[in-house]
Amino acid sequence: MPLQIAIVGSGPAGCFIAELLSRKIEDCQIDIIERLPSLFGLVRAGVAPDHQGTKNVTRQFEKTLEKDNIRVLANLNVGPDISYDELKSCYDLVVIATGASEDRMLNIPGEDSAGVYGSSHFVGWYNGHPASHQNPPELKGPSVAIIGHGNVALDIARLLAKTSNERAETDICAPAMSQLDNSEVSDIYLIGRGTPEQSKFTPPELAELKALSAAVPVISNTRIPETPSSDLDPREARAKQMNLDLFREFAENASNPVLTAGKTRIHLLFNHSPVAVASENGRIKSLKLKHQAEQASDELALPVDTLISAIGYRSREISSVPFDTQQGRIQHENGLIEPGVYATGWCRRGPNGVIPTNRADALEISKRILADLDSGQISAGKSGRVAMDNLIEAKQLKVLSYQDWKTIDQAEQDRAQGNKPREKFLTEAEMLQVLSS
Ligand SMILES: Cc1cc2nc3c(=O)[nH]c(=O)nc-3n(C[C@H](O)[C@H](O)[C@H](O)COP(=O)(O)OP(=O)(O)OC[C@H]3O[C@@H](n4cnc5c(N)ncnc54)[C@H](O)[C@@H]3O)c2cc1C
Repeated sequence: MPLQIAIVGSGPAGCFIAELLSRKIEDCQIDIIERLPSLFGLVRAGVAPDHQGTKNVTRQFEKTLEKDNIRVLANLNVGPDISYDELKSCYDLVVIATGASEDRMLNIPGEDSAGVYGSSHFVGWYNGHPASHQNPPELKGPSVAIIGHGNVALDIARLLAKTSNERAETDICAPAMSQLDNSEVSDIYLIGRGTPEQSKFTPPELAELKALSAAVPVISNTRIPETPSSDLDPREARAKQMNLDLFREFAENASNPVLTAGKTRIHLLFNHSPVAVASENGRIKSLKLKHQAEQASDELALPVDTLISAIGYRSREISSVPFDTQQGRIQHENGLIEPGVYATGWCRRGPNGVIPTNRADALEISKRILADLDSGQISAGKSGRVAMDNLIEAKQLKVLSYQDWKTIDQAEQDRAQGNKPREKFLTEAEMLQVLSS
């Protein structure tokens, strides 16, 4: 009797663990459950639309999902559609891989003003995530501030600063493309509370700012050390050195008015944290910043029309699944939530690491699962797919298969214009419509 496995979430973590379990457990049937009609989590909804090479990892995931013992149940939301208890009653083994899609708050006064967005919402908007399109951001005015000194902040700054031509080969969805093309943005502030050495940018992504045709990265009034501190391991020291070298170039840009004339300026601000948002008629007007090392009186008020916080994410709670509210992720012990239920990916370890980090995570969890199978803590016996299909039928849920997703995927590619790789559908209803036409 095959071991009946459910994996919740079709992002990198879900796909990696599906691949590993399908190879390592001799007789098993795996259902991958995804709340959206579309697949692949943040590869579709997070990774920058001008980094199509990174998004190509989905080809590897497709090979996994095409395996005979793997089936996709998309448009099925664990929690509202199928409860955690129902899931456990159907499957011998459940792996939760639901990521971390909620924005962390800045927790400053005025954060609820119009024009203030979390990066998950903002990135989801240009990447065509249905949730962001229920309440799309409005880009108004010339000045945008982004809080956070990591790669997500860089992605947002770069996409805002690109010209229409530079965005032409991306899959930014049509409404976002139109707002970006018509925006008046001329000053983008990348604000971090740490020193230049402490920033979390990776050098290749930071260097991309130099290649923009109509924007210039600038740094003013900041001491940039020649070399990073000596206690770093060699790999980290090399990356920090590359960042510092780039920062020095950006500081030279700031003193060259010919270079910046008529261009969008991307200002990198270090050692500053946000204190409050001031608004006018309900919309953000300025952002109050405090220098980390100076007195409270040394606050700076930056005129800002749009504010985006890119300071990390929390997992979304699923009813009855143990949750660590302080950490903002699923509660587990080395990946074990309770007997027969495991967690992997961002919902397990929080929002850090790149796509391949989730493979290492899935490998670790798969080893634990195999050990628990060997010791008899997990065993086959539940009716799996049969029970799940009965539940789906009884609840009259519209669940999509992998083939249904491929039909939607093809339709998005077919309707793309110019050099765009695809034109994404922005609502679940539109995607379902494709299947009925
Ligand atoms: C803006 C941004 C840009 C990034 N860029 C890069 C990059 O360029 N390169 C790189 O290597 N990494 C990048 N990353 C990191 C990478 O995306 C993550 O490491 C990875 O996606 C985490 O995988 P995951 O499967 O844990 O979560 P996710 O990718 O979020 O997948 C979780 C899946 O679970 C589904 N789900 C959630 N709740 C439920 C539920 N209740 N029922 C059913 N399904 C559910 C979601 O819809 C989603 O499909 C980026 C991340 C962000 C936020």
